[in-house]
Amino acid sequence: MSDIDARQIERMKSLLASQQDAFARDRHRPLNERKADLEAVQTLTAAHAGEIADAIASDYGVRSKAETQLGEIGFVLASAKHALKNLDKWAKPQKASVPMTLAPGKAYVRREPKGVAGIVSPWNYPYQLAIAPLIAALAAGCRAMIKPSEYTPATAELMQRLLGERFSEDQVAVVTGGPSVGEAFTALPFDHLFYTGSTHVGRIVAKAAAENLTPVTLELGGKSPAIVTESYETKDLMKPLAWGKFFNAGQTCVAPDYVLVPNRRVEEIGEALIATVSDFYPDLSSDDDYTAIVSQKHYDRLSGMIEEARAAGARILQPEHDAEAARAARKIPPTVILNLPEDSPLMQEEIFGPVLPVLGYELLSGAIDFVNGRDRPLALYVFSKEKSQSRRVLEQTMSGGASVNATMLHLSVEDMPFGGVGKSGYGAYHGERGFLEFTHERSVFEAPVWHPSRLIAPPYGKMFDFIAGLQKR
Ligand code: NAD
Repeated sequence: MSDIDARQIERMKSLLASQQDAFARDRHRPLNERKADLEAVQTLTAAHAGEIADAIASDYGVRSKAETQLGEIGFVLASAKHALKNLDKWAKPQKASVPMTLAPGKAYVRREPKGVAGIVSPWNYPYQLAIAPLIAALAAGCRAMIKPSEYTPATAELMQRLLGERFSEDQVAVVTGGPSVGEAFTALPFDHLFYTGSTHVGRIVAKAAAENLTPVTLELGGKSPAIVTESYETKDLMKPLAWGKFFNAGQTCVAPDYVLVPNRRVEEIGEALIATVSDFYPDLSSDDDYTAIVSQKHYDRLSGMIEEARAAGARILQPEHDAEAARAARKIPPTVILNLPEDSPLMQEEIFGPVLPVLGYELLSGAIDFVNGRDRPLALYVFSKEKSQSRRVLEQTMSGGASVNATMLHLSVEDMPFGGVGKSGYGAYHGERGFLEFTHERSVFEAPVWHPSRLIAPPYGKMFDFIAGLQKR
């Protein structure tokens, strides 16, 4: 471990202690203060949108400004706005009905902040995936420490500075560093741990959290399929499929990982995708709308997988491009792969880049079986003009979330939970579900000074028989 990491680890321990002390002094942050916190996140995001976009672009080399606006700035603003609008309703005690045998009395659930939350975020949407969980934590009245990814250091430093200008460190703090800092961070006894990243590291984080019995949210990845049914025409498919796949150059947790299409349309759909991306990015190596791969390590991994597929006999389709210039910009052209052997690494792990295998199926049941033969994905997409077919796909598969005749859009509806299932994670957030993730639901029963329950005490006699009789009704 480096000296810097060792210093970060010491610092995070003292930050946690100060946040815990502050929470113990002030357990119930009033709603007007929480709203001011949310407004502050809104204001600093809007006021520094340009700087945030520049920081992300410098981390990536090239990051589409439009996609940063949609996927980071706009997303965070919408999330804060939704929380501000609904916080009064979410935070209200929830009334419960009192059974006759316990009357008279009042039963309700108090929604209380859990305490100090730890948030670990990845590099692919480095602002959104740190700040959206923070919004949920602040709405719930928690304090929070954030550990962003080491692959996006400029964004991490900017978040540290911007949040530091508005929040005291005993309320919100950012600690920076790589896996060893992450490991020490997730070993801290937080009251809730919110992790976004790979399934591999998610498993390690869940074990670390278990040591402290810290409840954990795991927002993980996986191979999200798109299924195209016979009724859906290629011309209608192109924009939503290519947009969802090549947004952020495929470095999106809910990007379609592979697409299943009727056998006879594999070639047609593959070729049409290449024509579509040629229109999207006329000169992709110099086009700022097409994002680079975040690091050389990730670039080499993706290039290696494409070459392995080629060597195994797959057909690789790419739009015309200047290969030298693309490599220099660390860009991998949108790549469509046909005739890919099932045991290829591209079909074994989440691709997480601009590479889309197009696989053929004979019957829709075969496509459904193919999806069900793999881990439960974070997202699933079905394209069909017949409602009965899209319903059939939804009913016969399982995924964290899904969009019909679209990609990624379910994620942007703040009012719906967003999270995985099985290997794509557990727990969820966005909207009220996010608020609840950082909330302890404390059930309270309030009895009047004298309550009939006192009549039931040993030695049990006639009154017990009477109450037991009521219970049987
Ligand atoms: P990653 O798991 O490598 O890293 C994520 C974070 O964990 C980083 O901050 C990293 O420093 C930290 N970390 C690394 N090793 C650690 C350890 N041993 N203990 C504790 N922390 C550790 O993930 P990544 O490459 O940054 O992100 C890509 C993955 O994230 C993909 O699988 C993608 O699908 C997934 N993802 C999921 C969502 C979602 O909302 N479900 C969103 C974005 C990305």
